[in-house]
Amino acid sequence: MTRIDDLPIRDELRGHSPYGAPQLDVPVRLNTNENPYPLPEALVARIAERVAEAARGLNRYPDRDAVELRTALAAYLTRTAGHPVGLAQVWAANGSNEIIQQLLQTFGGPGRSAIGFEPSYSMHALISRGTGTGWISGPRNPDFTIDVSAAVREIAERRPEVVFVCSPNNPTGTAVAAETVLALYEAAQAARPSLVVVDEAYGEFSHQPSLLPLVEGRPHLVLTRTMSKAFGAAGLRLGYLAADPAVVDAVQLVRLPYHLSAVTQATALAALEYTDTLLGYVDQLKAERDRVVDGLRATGYDVVDSDGNFVQFGRFADSHAAWEAVLAHGVLVRDNGVPGWLRVSVGTPAENDAFLDAARAVFKDHS
Ligand code: PMP
Repeated sequence: MTRIDDLPIRDELRGHSPYGAPQLDVPVRLNTNENPYPLPEALVARIAERVAEAARGLNRYPDRDAVELRTALAAYLTRTAGHPVGLAQVWAANGSNEIIQQLLQTFGGPGRSAIGFEPSYSMHALISRGTGTGWISGPRNPDFTIDVSAAVREIAERRPEVVFVCSPNNPTGTAVAAETVLALYEAAQAARPSLVVVDEAYGEFSHQPSLLPLVEGRPHLVLTRTMSKAFGAAGLRLGYLAADPAVVDAVQLVRLPYHLSAVTQATALAALEYTDTLLGYVDQLKAERDRVVDGLRATGYDVVDSDGNFVQFGRFADSHAAWEAVLAHGVLVRDNGVPGWLRVSVGTPAENDAFLDAARAVFKDHS
């Protein structure tokens, strides 16, 4: 049998595994930070209507510049993220993963490097590798906040072309203060200048306001967002960025022509019409997130303060054994490979009750 490593693949891909959260058939699945609420029926009907309209034109390529969608995304950010942006400052792609890939294809690549502060979203490192960009693992404090002076030192010494800051950070839930982003931005500008990418995939769930206003006057700062979490539309695959118009122009050098299908654009536009309803679910999830944090702490767990729709809890002598013990109670959580810790996504109240029951049941034997 031919194995991957027997193929003439690029050297930097050898010996690595693809991204893969287990997709197991379990009663309660709280492992991939999805929104537990299906889209409301009225929105499903509106999507069908808009997609039918788009289908009548499927013999033609879609709007290559996704003008209507980017305008609607800019209006959404302007209304909800505390800073006005327009069409020229917003770009969209198939999930924020593709946004990150386009940024690395444009600003990273062979002979260049990117830094992230780990543990953090593993795809920053994986997409770096996929684009031939060197990866630098930067430090965090024991409480999972970014160690600012160590990070600034690392940026000054290693001079990466791209700096990733994930806020709220996946998997720890940690929000990053605006002053921290500014300190890293200053260091990155002094070193090169380099591009600073603030990944706000979970921005809508945070206790703190969006970091979007920081893009003003900082042409090398990019904010990335997604409709996968707050909009409950992970299956749609729609991510976007806000930045200086020059960054939007630059990523067009690498984007595939017609990368966003007409069906995707129509569906995303329908979902944006239902922003207020969907943000209502976000409010419920934030309250449930805080309830899960309190419930875990009352049981005796260590819990990292969370600004996401997920919670990192521990500490376990053997986190994989603890993951299996929770799974034996019918609840799938995530072992992100952070020693001593597991991550649970926030579900419906009933799912969270099932999880808290399981967490109580395994506490004595595993923590
Ligand atoms: N950034 C972070 C921090 C994430 O956790 C995720 C998804 N888990 C993404 C980006 C990518 O999301 P998507 O491609 O679905 O927009």
